[in-house]
Amino acid sequence: MGSQIFNFFRHTKRKLLTGGFAETVHLFLKDLEKQNGAFRHPDGKYVVNLSFDLELGFNTPFWEGDLRKALAYGTSAQNNFLSLLGYLREERIPSNVQIAGLLMDEELTMLSLFSPAQREAIRNHRELFALSHEDVAMLISPDIEAGIHGFSHRHFTELSSQDADYEMRNVVRVFEKKFGKAPEFMSFPKNYIAHTDVVKKHGVKCWRADRQHPLTDFEIPLGLWFAPGVLGASDLGRLLAKIKESHMGYFLHLWGHFTEMDVRVFAELLDVIKSAGWKCTTVKNFKQY
Ligand SMILES: [Zn+2]
Repeated sequence: MGSQIFNFFRHTKRKLLTGGFAETVHLFLKDLEKQNGAFRHPDGKYVVNLSFDLELGFNTPFWEGDLRKALAYGTSAQNNFLSLLGYLREERIPSNVQIAGLLMDEELTMLSLFSPAQREAIRNHRELFALSHEDVAMLISPDIEAGIHGFSHRHFTELSSQDADYEMRNVVRVFEKKFGKAPEFMSFPKNYIAHTDVVKKHGVKCWRADRQHPLTDFEIPLGLWFAPGVLGASDLGRLLAKIKESHMGYFLHLWGHFTEMDVRVFAELLDVIKSAGWKCTTVKNFKQY
């Protein structure tokens, strides 16, 4: 009973402060009201780009010391990855997936980067830190644009330009080996952007910005974090309607992680997108690079 009352007040407070939207959606809409914040579609279409960063065990609580929690997290990431990817393929939904290079590195080039305890955990739970041949085969689809998410998932803002070059050289190398072509889209780990000259030098044509505007030709807007509990079906539906009211065409980037997204929740959100009359696209098809 007590918690019901608490929830009622919390709900009411949220409505008063943010027009009924979750706070991140509310802030996004405020940004959108500024003309500069709009990311119009040149042909007046309404498109959504669904984008998933894939790091499995990397940069999880594992690295902060709670191994048991991290392994559970890695396992659920693997499970969600396979079921969600299967769904994307079956339903033929254009989308983007960015992969941390170490997951594709059979020789684990940067193992020296990790502490002895971390190295041991990686060796003992190799399946959590590697894409299998089946995983890669699943990612090769005309509807999915595979891209890169750094090599070791280190933050580019904390790297020297030599380290950034090392990251890029290695992620491009392992990506080309697995996919037989060069990666073109990149999401920076944690969206911490730096060393863009190095990134361009290695052939990347576009990346997710750390803001909605202003953008360079190489960027798509940050868009919104696409995770259950952050962007629910009701908020998403109202957001799509509101954008349509105020903009002639729009490109909406929604990004998240396989770890967080359950396939049933995802299917529900996708229904909202479809019934609002929006279509899904890859970044490559939108930017036409
Ligand atoms: Zn990441």
